[in-house]
Amino acid sequence: LGDAHDKLQGQYAELEDHHKKAKEMANTDGLTGLKNHGHFQRYLHHEVDRARRYERPLSLVMIDLDFFKQVNDKFGHQKGDAVLSHVGKILREECRDVDYVARYGGEEFVVVMPEITAPNAVKAANRLRERIEGLYQEVNLPEHQTGASLGVADFPACATDNTSLIAAADGALLFAKRQGRNRVAYFRDLSDTELSGDDLDNLNSRLEGAGFQTIRVLAKAVDARDQYPE
Ligand code: GH3
Ligand code: MG
Ligand code: MG
Repeated sequence: LGDAHDKLQGQYAELEDHHKKAKEMANTDGLTGLKNHGHFQRYLHHEVDRARRYERPLSLVMIDLDFFKQVNDKFGHQKGDAVLSHVGKILREECRDVDYVARYGGEEFVVVMPEITAPNAVKAANRLRERIEGLYQEVNLPEHQTGASLGVADFPACATDNTSLIAAADGALLFAKRQGRNRVAYFRDLSDTELSGDDLDNLNSRLEGAGFQTIRVLAKAVDARDQYPE
């Protein structure tokens, strides 16, 4: 009986191990080894709830590589993959242990910074931007071809829930692209900016589903109050 029991216990441990590995794989992006989109969504939901309950701040940085299609077109997809995987490494290196890094999709990444408000998140984002800008040397690209645009939004200044926070960071990212790329933009700074028709359309669709708090932040630039009643 002792033998049978030991054997069963061994099998159980093995099964548990398999389960753990399968779960890890389901949450991990294969190319970069970072957490993937699904895990990010669950994590952010949880973190924003926690931040609200304890009345703590939280920042979200959205990163989109600039002209990344050109890297693939000029140097091939394997080089493109190498750049993506290197960006993942840089993000892990540069961020604090308590920060959370994920690949949002394609050439887009996110960093969640608990306990951090926008001014410090913008500083951190600029550090990331500089590292990514210099990355082309590390991956042996013949020319400078690795900029990134970053959008920053913080809870609760820009948003009241996880969906709104993503919309706000995404809006800021769009703004960074429009201002000329390879830069960091903070969502609340958009409210002091005159936005043109195309930008407004684009911003409006990105803010679909965003809460009133997020829209109100933009009220100076975007006359969206009527579309998003309280
Ligand atoms: P922008 O500055 O406006 O962001 O321009 P962009 O070229 O970065 O934007 P666009 O969205 O047109 O291109 C994104 C490219 O990212 C297109 C796609 O082929 C590439 N990409 C997405 N995922 C991967 C991947 O896993 N590996 C490689 N090599 N390329 C990828
Ligand atoms: Mg993109
Ligand atoms: Mg891009």
